[in-house]
Amino acid sequence: MFDDNYLISRLARHAAATPDAPFARSDAQPDISYGTLFDGAQRMAAALVAVGLSPGDRVAVQVEKSLSALELYLGTVLAGGVFLPLNTGYTAEEVAYFLTDATPSVVVCDPAREGDIAPLADAAHLFTLDAVGQGTLAQARPASGTAFPAVPRGADDLAAILYTSGTTGRSKGAMLSHDNLASNSETLVDYWRFTPDDVLIHALPIFHTHGLFVATNVALLSGASVVFLPRFDPDVVLDAMPTATALMGVPTFYTRLLDNPRLTPGLAANMRVFISGSAPMLRDTHEKWQARTGHTVLERYGMTETNMNTSNPYDGERRAGTVGVPLPGVALRIMGDDGTPVDRGEIGVIEVRGPNGFRGYWKMPEKTAEELRPDGWFITGDQATQDADGYITIVGRAKDMVITGGFNVYPKEIEALIDDIAGVRESAVIGVPHPDFGEAVVAVIVAENSALTESDVMAEIGSRLARFKQPKTCILVPELPRNTMGKVQKKALRDSYGNLFS
Ligand code: AMP
Repeated sequence: MFDDNYLISRLARHAAATPDAPFARSDAQPDISYGTLFDGAQRMAAALVAVGLSPGDRVAVQVEKSLSALELYLGTVLAGGVFLPLNTGYTAEEVAYFLTDATPSVVVCDPAREGDIAPLADAAHLFTLDAVGQGTLAQARPASGTAFPAVPRGADDLAAILYTSGTTGRSKGAMLSHDNLASNSETLVDYWRFTPDDVLIHALPIFHTHGLFVATNVALLSGASVVFLPRFDPDVVLDAMPTATALMGVPTFYTRLLDNPRLTPGLAANMRVFISGSAPMLRDTHEKWQARTGHTVLERYGMTETNMNTSNPYDGERRAGTVGVPLPGVALRIMGDDGTPVDRGEIGVIEVRGPNGFRGYWKMPEKTAEELRPDGWFITGDQATQDADGYITIVGRAKDMVITGGFNVYPKEIEALIDDIAGVRESAVIGVPHPDFGEAVVAVIVAENSALTESDVMAEIGSRLARFKQPKTCILVPELPRNTMGKVQKKALRDSYGNLFS
């Protein structure tokens, strides 16, 4: 039935074999089986085609997380469309940019946003869909049991465009093919040993690669079921844990769960694996998690453009502070400024190549050419080292590197030292304009309590860091600005403290 559609034929394998197997339990909507999910996807596909969706057309979606939204994702791909999810936090002004850039033929928004979005939808057909699956899209769907023959799509056809959360400049739409998504999820299912016996706690947003492709596609491909939560709430995740086997989260999930006294080894006894990614996990969090639950977090590294690139091993050593080794099928190299690979242990920029690598940025051939080499290597912009055993440690982003008095300073090195100081919860090191040095190193620090002072920090790191790396000033703040994926927003910090020395 779905054979001609490259991605859906793979994702629907369990639905065809065991339609009654449970797919998701959710408080907001009735629990659904694999069969019901794909029935819903076919009904979505029929509704989209009825308003004129043609193969290759974009379906831009800014809706709350729901099982219906997952059906919309699958239905879009089934109908030959390109799924384009948008962060629910984007303002109308931001959405206007995405709609103008991507020229979707269908736009789906929350009923509460209809008034804002309708004037921006232009020639596109506008549907609404709310958090419990109600709205004009639900009304437009044909009855349950309507068969929708899959629109044929091959490995290289586009399945999705995800705009990168890029902290500088205009957002870029990463074009992802059917094979990009299928191949990466197949690798992850094997690597992390997902089976139909797994129950995955799904508390991530589904407008980002982590919750949409890593969590959802891995569950679907393996036949696992999911506890589908509208958002991350530590108590609700802890309620789910005794009957679940896996959690995929950003580091903030883990720090918030550690703050909750209910987290015990007993509560986590049924769990098989805790996976973290999208932002660096502090070594301290890794160690505390191990001490508290008896489980060693499995950290992996990926990005919108490439899906997942590296992972700590399932069976071998999961090394704190590292993102593990390249996944099977992913070639990875660390390149120096001179355009050749650096020696092991040296810092350079990660480049990756493999079936996971995207097809370029939507309507931005120059940006694509800057970051994607003609021979397929993608320049990630992440600076890292690789040790003798192949483990990768990310030390920062190329654009976060500080150049002070002509010397390069890697924020991660200083952050690691500061984070180790008693009384420090976490830190972010940035460069800000300085009349003398070009840029000055500034440390923004969250303390465990109010007793910590700037001189405590300087006394600890003064003897351990070369003078040029030492922060010119330390700023104590109650918390660091983060985006929804838990990434510290260094641009916001640079904006806030940019005038310190001017
Ligand atoms: P995004 O495209 O929003 O998924 O962001 C991708 C970026 O997140 C990467 O280029 C890295 O800078 C960062 N990232 C993802 N996973 C990790 C990780 N485990 N440790 C450190 N940084 C990470």
